[in-house]
Amino acid sequence: MNKFTFRGGVHPPYNKITSNKKIEALPLPEVLYVPLSQHAGKPAKPLVKRGDVVKKGQKIGEADGFISANIHAPTSGKVKSIMEHPHPVFLENVPTVIIEADGDDTWFDGYGERKDWQERTREEIINDVKEAGIVGLGGAAFPSHVKLSPPPEKKIDTVIINGAECEPYLTADDRLMQERPEDMLWGARLIKRAVGAEKVYIAIEDNKPKAINSIQDALREFDDIELRVVKTKYPEGAEKQLIKALTGREVPRGGLPMDVGCLVHNAGTSIAIYEAVRFGKPLIERVLTLSGSGAQGKGNYLVRIGTQFSYIVGKTGGTSGDIKKVIMGGPMMGISQYSLDVPVIKGTSGILLFTSKEVKFHEPYPCIRCSRCVSVCPMGLLPLILVDLVKYGRLEIAKEQYGLLDCIECGSCAYICPSHIPHVQWIKYGKSELRRKK
Ligand code: SF4
Ligand code: SF4
Repeated sequence: MNKFTFRGGVHPPYNKITSNKKIEALPLPEVLYVPLSQHAGKPAKPLVKRGDVVKKGQKIGEADGFISANIHAPTSGKVKSIMEHPHPVFLENVPTVIIEADGDDTWFDGYGERKDWQERTREEIINDVKEAGIVGLGGAAFPSHVKLSPPPEKKIDTVIINGAECEPYLTADDRLMQERPEDMLWGARLIKRAVGAEKVYIAIEDNKPKAINSIQDALREFDDIELRVVKTKYPEGAEKQLIKALTGREVPRGGLPMDVGCLVHNAGTSIAIYEAVRFGKPLIERVLTLSGSGAQGKGNYLVRIGTQFSYIVGKTGGTSGDIKKVIMGGPMMGISQYSLDVPVIKGTSGILLFTSKEVKFHEPYPCIRCSRCVSVCPMGLLPLILVDLVKYGRLEIAKEQYGLLDCIECGSCAYICPSHIPHVQWIKYGKSELRRKK
């Protein structure tokens, strides 16, 4: 089988130790913490107040503008309060709807299978996705209805369902593809119809043989969709790299996949879209991977949005060893957490509990000009130069001449650097300074 790939990248230890663990639904917690901001764009506007009784799937936050997303109650119960609460991305307190579960888990009235779901029109599919508050589940959390609505001059001919899951440790998408291949393919078909594409590719890295087999079997019923096996290499699942690997097209500097006729959706997002169109199901739960040597109950879990990390860790056997680091997402691009009292949000693909087995602190040394960072950068940038330019405040030069804003923050440069230079920290700092000045 021909395997596709891109230039650059690295091979960190993949540690996909939970790929054989079936998805397990965790019991419902008594209290859920549902932030009104779980997506790229503006936070949702609250539709409920303290004391309101809500049903499972009821809209409790309304998208505020085009780039925003609806928020729904993950279970039935009572709104205990709307208050500032810790958040796993913003790392500060943000407005959050706190719901006391009544234990009945009663669905809102609009939930149920639609007879015409296979015949939904483009407009109906986009509206279903918008109403359901679906965002990219790979971590970026960009509202999916926006991606499905490119301007008329941007014709999408190719849809790519991203099952690469190139981040070490994470196996949630792998398990979804193994356990629910037909649902994912139906989602892909609905996305194809929504944007009027001609081709759909399912991209899976070659370190997921069971998922590949499962999708291959299911594809017998989907002759309009093709499987593309990509080489296992980080960051194979980054949008621009995947597009280049599969189509040979290069997204221009500062551009988007739609500029080259492509649309990329994550494998889990594809299933969420299928559920939204078929059942009118809002995005109120997701599958995530719990892993790392500090997690007793390593596995893949279906959890409600708003479940505290501490609840998940407690319900799965607690911690083991001395926890040095907690990460939401993967170890390369994930976000370090300072507390387990943060809730699962739509973009929580994993919770990693690392001990000293995984966490090694290194003092950075001066650059030895070995150029390894340059050879692995998938965006063709010069990370060593970017770091120096940011350090010395030459931000405009870093942006205009060296493509600071093109960095996808994949961390390949920092991973490979023998001097342990924290490139990504400098690059993020440079970007935030540019934003601040603007
Ligand atoms: S400069 Fe940016 S895109 Fe290039 S390797 Fe480093 S983090 Fe990745
Ligand atoms: S990999 Fe590290 S030491 Fe080598 S050139 Fe890049 S920044 Fe310098």
